[in-house]
Amino acid sequence: MPPTRLVLIGDPVSHSLSPKFQSAAIDAAGLGVKYEAMKVSSADLEQVAQSLLDESAGGNVTVPHKTAFSRLCGERTATAERTGAVNTFWTRDGKLVGDNTDVAGFDAAARELLGEIPPGVKVAVIGAGGAAAAVLAAVEGWPGAKVRLFSRTLERSEKLAERFADFVRVDSALQTALAGATLVVNATPIGMTDDSVPLETEHLPRDSVVLDLVYRPGGTALTRAAHGAGHRAADGRTMLIEQGARSFEKWFGFAPDKRLMRAALG
Ligand code: NAP
Repeated sequence: MPPTRLVLIGDPVSHSLSPKFQSAAIDAAGLGVKYEAMKVSSADLEQVAQSLLDESAGGNVTVPHKTAFSRLCGERTATAERTGAVNTFWTRDGKLVGDNTDVAGFDAAARELLGEIPPGVKVAVIGAGGAAAAVLAAVEGWPGAKVRLFSRTLERSEKLAERFADFVRVDSALQTALAGATLVVNATPIGMTDDSVPLETEHLPRDSVVLDLVYRPGGTALTRAAHGAGHRAADGRTMLIEQGARSFEKWFGFAPDKRLMRAALG
């Protein structure tokens, strides 16, 4: 049974565009389901998860609850298990089922930017949180790909890299992580609320391509700087739409109109 209520759980959720573009697709399909942002504190998360289960709701989970919510799900898809994080859920047989569509969303965004994924591609990932875990789970499916991972908290990179040890190496300096990369991914929130950047473009390898997971109308300071320095670059809007379209499919069993979703982002 498709959910009759959808929520986006986060704290804070004010920056998220998901209610806007999901509602556009839901309304266009005539589904009559409301999708609402719900600000939930960590202390209330377990109780909220129980009441969502009781009312057979579905939805998305965003910063900072993806990992904690994953533990509250009675069932997780293989992708949610691999990342340790849930961004999409629904209810089935009296259980919350958790999935992670950020993985396929990132994969689609990277393919849009790179075209075919080159065999043995070298990827630099900045950040070691939930989004970085989704990036690693996607890159794991790219033949021969190697990742160099940098984050400001070395222990966090090391802990994440342990789970993907076959192809991920941790660097303690950003410039070392960037060296030789074909694809550079910003998986930190830097640039989300202002024009700060996670790296200086002079440190980007020649011909490297930048995928900033942060999304902002008009692009991010990082994508603007990368374009200015002659690099191909995109912000997180494609990933956002692609992960959202996959969430929609999980809830309703058919694909949404992605052009409508994108138009609703403005
Ligand atoms: P997270 O779990 O909180 O992890 C954030 C990571 O960034 C951590 O490694 C953190 O380091 C680092 N970081 C945070 N602030 C920093 C700063 N000022 N300087 C340097 N490093 C910093 O968050 P997340 O879920 O991975 O999300 C990261 C970003 O990706 C968010 O902006 C989110 O909106 C975006 N995202 C986009 C999509 C999409 O569809 N486009 C999907 C998922 C996420 P510490 O461990 O040291 O705090």
